[in-house]
Amino acid sequence: MISKQKYNRLIGIVWVAAMALFAVGPVRADDFRYNGFETTYEFSVHPGDLQYFYVTIHIANNDAPQLVFSMPAWMPGGYMLANFARRVADFQAVNSKNERLAVQKIDPNSWEIQTKGDPVIHVSYKVNIAHGAFMGKVIDSNFALVNGPSTYMYIRGHKNDPVTVKYNIPENWKIATGLAETQNPAIFTAPNYDVFADAPALLGLFKQFTFRLKGVPHVVAIKGPVNFDTGAFIRMIKKIVTYETQEIYRDIPYKKYVFIYTIYSGRRGGGGLEHLNSTTIGLSGDLLKENVKNGADVTAHEFFHVWNVKRIRPEVLGPFDYTKDVRTTSLWVCEGITSYYADLVLARTGIWGEAKFLKNQAKMISALQSNPDRFKTSAEMSGWNIWQNGYGGSGISFYTKGQILGMLLDLKIRHLTNNTRSLDDVMRFLNQWFAKWDVGYKDSDILRAVNAVSNQDFRPFFERYVGGTVELPYKKILGYAGLKPVFEKKKVPYIGKIAFFGPQNRVFAVDRESPIGKAGLMKEDHILKIDGRKIKNRGDLAKLLNAKKPGQTLKFLVKRDGKKITITAAVKSREKVMCKIETTASPAPEQLMMRKAWLHGATD
Ligand SMILES: [Zn+2]
Repeated sequence: MISKQKYNRLIGIVWVAAMALFAVGPVRADDFRYNGFETTYEFSVHPGDLQYFYVTIHIANNDAPQLVFSMPAWMPGGYMLANFARRVADFQAVNSKNERLAVQKIDPNSWEIQTKGDPVIHVSYKVNIAHGAFMGKVIDSNFALVNGPSTYMYIRGHKNDPVTVKYNIPENWKIATGLAETQNPAIFTAPNYDVFADAPALLGLFKQFTFRLKGVPHVVAIKGPVNFDTGAFIRMIKKIVTYETQEIYRDIPYKKYVFIYTIYSGRRGGGGLEHLNSTTIGLSGDLLKENVKNGADVTAHEFFHVWNVKRIRPEVLGPFDYTKDVRTTSLWVCEGITSYYADLVLARTGIWGEAKFLKNQAKMISALQSNPDRFKTSAEMSGWNIWQNGYGGSGISFYTKGQILGMLLDLKIRHLTNNTRSLDDVMRFLNQWFAKWDVGYKDSDILRAVNAVSNQDFRPFFERYVGGTVELPYKKILGYAGLKPVFEKKKVPYIGKIAFFGPQNRVFAVDRESPIGKAGLMKEDHILKIDGRKIKNRGDLAKLLNAKKPGQTLKFLVKRDGKKITITAAVKSREKVMCKIETTASPAPEQLMMRKAWLHGATD
């Protein structure tokens, strides 16, 4: 129940928020600027060529004497400069008479063409994809996985113009993409470059399943060895989709959604990337065979991004400036709250039990409390600094602290509103007043939304725990739900944070200030062996490290630029904090009610 008086007050706040949005205008005027400039991308793979993707861009109705074609310097969802232009080769341009046009590279990402005002221009180039992508190979003889920003150039001044794309692929190949379909199954359209680039395409031979929810199709494309129970897997995905659309947001903001799964063998952990109305997720077939629930968390996380970050987004995250880093202090919301909800959705749908949910939250607390950088870097600054620190680098993780903050905020809102409001209401509020109007939020709007929904002042909470580095009030806030954190400390061997991925153990982040960073391990190194042993994952590294004592060394054999190098790290020791979340001795009925509402999804 929610009292009438409170409801009226809330409506008042909502109305003021709505007026404020009207004042700035819900849409950007240039969204509707269309000057007849036509762009058609033609994508090709050449049989037997596993080195390059081939792109041709056909322009019609041009009237400018010069056109500038640019590769994005980064891609939405990956907050680091990737400089995709370095992979481009054989850039050429011709006019309507097939005459070569003068081309000049005017900055590291851009090519300028002298069109002489010819209305028809054809540009072609190829993209080196031999190194693969974050989740492994992007091509072999029976598939290609096309990522927009690393493949397609945009045309300066024409990012808002509509786009058509045609895929030239072998006849027996299929296409899975979130883009709008046309009569021709190989041709798709997008209203602008942002939407086009944010829709990856899986081309090739793969399994495909479709389920509908309220009439809206959800496509599940699975590439790779499908040796697990796909029926159970699809049912699990449908449960997640149903809960997030129907219970949390009460909204399906797309006409079609596409899950693209690439399945690999081996027991490596998965990963995913969110897109506007699709996601690409890499998962271990062996782990899925053991239990399809091993794919639940990443699926719930990526799907939650449909709203949080894709539509409920900081101002700088759409429309995108692809030329440089675009910083925001709200990545703890975009990623951390998304991770929190992924776990919460799994608990509420029964895919996870309550114990597993609490164990995972305790794991996040353990990670944060074991990291001495938590007194130096706030949740806000960890997101701001990601562009220079890199993933898994120094500082704290906005995923980890953001997830914990999500839980603490949720419980505190429930406590202060007698369980009549929750973080669910904050997410719906942000969806209503930002996403639905297609405007980004300012970093300060999150606090305003929490205050509006709870009708309480959360400024002190934000100052201390979000913008500040004050130790988080676990005991007090978990206590509202009849829970308590129990901490244990021990000394463990330590060489620093290293993040690596893929069959070749490619290092994508290393803390430069740590013993292994100082010893010389670098990003892009491939770890061949550690102390003479081959390793497959972080667990293997942890085993070798945990057998060491401070003062001993760990020898890394790595491959860098084709050469083998040995790097010797001195093992140090650090304090590790382990947290468990337990129930308090004799919880009051309100505490039990709050826990039930929290983990089963009701506010009253
Ligand atoms: Zn994410």
